[in-house]
Amino acid sequence: MAGPDPLTFDHLNVFPGLVHGVFSRAEGYSKGPFLGLNVGLSTGDDPDIVNRNRNLMLSSIGLNRGLFLNQVHGTDIAVIKSEKDAAGAVWNGQGTAPSIIVKADAAVTNLKGLGLAIQVADCQAVVLYDPQKEVVANVHSGWRGSVADILGRCINTMVTQFGCTPASIRAGISPSLGPCCAQFINYKREIPETLWQYKEKDRPYFDFWQISRDQLGAQGVLDEHIETMGLCTRCRTDLFYSFRENKATGRFAAVIALKN
Ligand SMILES: [Zn+2]
Repeated sequence: MAGPDPLTFDHLNVFPGLVHGVFSRAEGYSKGPFLGLNVGLSTGDDPDIVNRNRNLMLSSIGLNRGLFLNQVHGTDIAVIKSEKDAAGAVWNGQGTAPSIIVKADAAVTNLKGLGLAIQVADCQAVVLYDPQKEVVANVHSGWRGSVADILGRCINTMVTQFGCTPASIRAGISPSLGPCCAQFINYKREIPETLWQYKEKDRPYFDFWQISRDQLGAQGVLDEHIETMGLCTRCRTDLFYSFRENKATGRFAAVIALKN
C-alpha cells in the first residue's frame, strides 16, 4: 500500500511548525460500504481494521499519537494543556484504543506531536492554528454545530484559555456537504431564522461554508486567513464518505498537530 496522501490547505503549508491533512478514503484497509480509509469506530466497520486505518493515517504524517473524540453534535470543547489532560485519552499509534474517549466536538491543544482528529461524513472539520501562540484546534461542525456556533465558541476558548489573538488565527474548512447538496426541507424547524440569509432564494439549500466563514469572521478571524477546500462530500463519494448519500458508510478525518 502506497499510504495515504492527504489533501492540505495551501495557507497552512507555509508554517514549518505545523503538520495537518485531510484524509480522503483512498488507501485504507476497509472493505464493502466502508471501502478505504475509514477511521470511524461507530460505523459498523471492523474495529481492528479501523484501528489499522487510524494508525496508518497518523503515521503517514509523522505522528505517533492522536486524540479521537466521541463527537455528539454538542458544544463541549476538550482543552488539552498538559500531558495530564491527555493521559488515557490519547491514541498511541500502536493499534490499541485509549481507555478514555473524550465526549466533545472540538479540541484545542498546545502540546507538540499530538494529532487532533475530527471525523466526518458531510459535516465540516475546521482546523485552526495560531502561529503566534503555537496552538492548534480542530472542530466538528455539522448543521447543529453551525446552529450552536461551535466555531465561535472554539475561537473564544483559544482566546480565553491560551491567550490567542483571533487576527493571527488561520482556519481551514474541510470537504463537507456543499451548497449544492445541503438541502434542509425542515429548515423552519431546524435552522434559526438568523441563518436563513444563507438559504437559496427559491430552494431550501444552505451555504454552510459561508456560515462558517462568517462565524469565524465574527470572532475577528481575518477573511484572508480562512481557506475552504470547496469539495462537496455528497458529490464526491469517490473521494469521501457521505452520510447523506450512503447511510452505511465510513468517516474520513482531518488532523492537525504541532510538530515535535
Ligand atoms: Zn454537492
